Amino acid sequence: MERIAIVTGASKGIGREIAKQLAKNKIKVIANYNQSEKEALELKKELEQENITIEIMKADVSKREQVKKMVQNVLGKYKKINILVNNAGISEYKMFRDETDEDWNRVINTNLYSAFAMTQEVIPNMVQNQEGCIINISSIWGLTGASLEVLYSISKAGMNGMTKALAKELGPSNIRVNAIAPGAIDTDMNANLTKKEWNQLQEETPLGKIGMPEDIAKCVKWLVEDNFTTGQIISINGGWVIT
Ligand code: NAP
Repeated sequence: MERIAIVTGASKGIGREIAKQLAKNKIKVIANYNQSEKEALELKKELEQENITIEIMKADVSKREQVKKMVQNVLGKYKKINILVNNAGISEYKMFRDETDEDWNRVINTNLYSAFAMTQEVIPNMVQNQEGCIINISSIWGLTGASLEVLYSISKAGMNGMTKALAKELGPSNIRVNAIAPGAIDTDMNANLTKKEWNQLQEETPLGKIGMPEDIAKCVKWLVEDNFTTGQIISINGGWVIT
């Protein structure tokens, strides 16, 4: 039977690659986007050339009513959701003392509240079906903390806490909840890094390479197929950070 997956923030970077890999694995993907409609349409087209059909769905996942509407749309059409990947996120570099309440709301709502709202809307259906797989895309900064990225680190640490606690609460309903905590991955989010900084990162990484979206998508694919892993924060970073 066809499985249904929602991937948030699938227009670009890591989410886009996750959407591709799942779709190529015979999973019906609903690829969420917010601002990048052109990129989302390109993804749909690209997959259509391989005879794979995905749906793209616009929603700002930091807003409850838009999350609710998207999930209701998916359930109205497909009746179930087997997989949820909470990937949408933004970064921000600022001195902690300069952060405002607006910054707090933007970063926390986009990175953490979105996962809270998406998961809440999706789990009644998963509980009813006694089956589900939730994957949160966190960050190594949620484990170790990053200077100039305190709000981002808080949002990802919150996501890690949510992953562990929810895994315990939802395990008896056969719903697995895991997080992937990537190191630096080559996407638009890191467009501010210079060539020199990338080279330095590569040198500091035991595996001697830079992470690509595919490295994260492979792990998502594995977690979707697995059935005995839950409550784990899987850090994929080439050995850059070993906790
Ligand atoms: P990216 O290339 O900047 O893509 C971010 C994606 O999130 C875009 O598709 C964007 O969609 C979506 N998004 C942002 N705000 C949204 C909102 N309110 N509603 C719906 N979608 C929204 O970044 P990325 O590197 O792929 O990051 C993906 C995830 O991985 C993030 O959670 C990030 O924190 C995490 N991560 C990244 C790295 C890294 O080094 N790149 C490392 C660790 C963790 P639109 O453009 O359509 O709005």
